[in-house]
Amino acid sequence: MSGYRETQAVVLRSQDLREADRRLSLLTPQGRCQARVPGARKAKSRLAGLLQPASVVQVTLYERPGAQAVVTGASQIASFRRLHEDLVRVAASQVLLEICDVQSGEEEALRPFTVLVEALRLLDEAPDAADAWLEGELGLLAAYGWGLELWRCVGCGGELRPPLKYQMDIGGFTCGRCSGIGGMTASASALEALRAAAEGAAPGPGDAEARSLLHLTWRGHLEAPLKSAEFAESLMRA
Ligand SMILES: [Zn+2]
Repeated sequence: MSGYRETQAVVLRSQDLREADRRLSLLTPQGRCQARVPGARKAKSRLAGLLQPASVVQVTLYERPGAQAVVTGASQIASFRRLHEDLVRVAASQVLLEICDVQSGEEEALRPFTVLVEALRLLDEAPDAADAWLEGELGLLAAYGWGLELWRCVGCGGELRPPLKYQMDIGGFTCGRCSGIGGMTASASALEALRAAAEGAAPGPGDAEARSLLHLTWRGHLEAPLKSAEFAESLMRA
């Protein structure tokens, strides 16, 4: 049945089409969808200004069976100005948006939506973008059902004493006693960084290593590397 639907949405990606149209990838509380914005690239398009990546909007979609949805109206809920101005924040928000865009599962979508909006807000407001970035990725992993165990060894259930190994497939770390299991060598400061991020605190010196562990984890779950992560990491090193 065709008809109009109103929903909240985060703009994940925007792509130019022929005839001045633009195609958006949106994350809504009901799931991901694509929608066309007719005439978005014309100079006077009010919709185009509202529908930038990382914007949170209320949209009206016209949906027809067998055709792509069309955006017929939009109003702004949040625009997160610094996510368009500060280069590190631009790059880090791209990573969060890409994760939600390539995540192909059709599972419950309300939690990823809520977590993404909160992560973007934090990335916009946090004094240090890197802190908010790690927290956002960790939150999205949990929202998609891949939350990490950070407090107990995933081998023996005991305390996480070094030398630590990261167990990407299980989503956690093993302790020194379980080192025979294999896995990836990880420092105690990377674990500390993840624990701090999980509690909303500053990750400290293990931040970069923690992010690279998360990016490997996404790569495993999404079956492809995150295109935006490498650029964002290179900015952090600069
Ligand atoms: Zn153990």
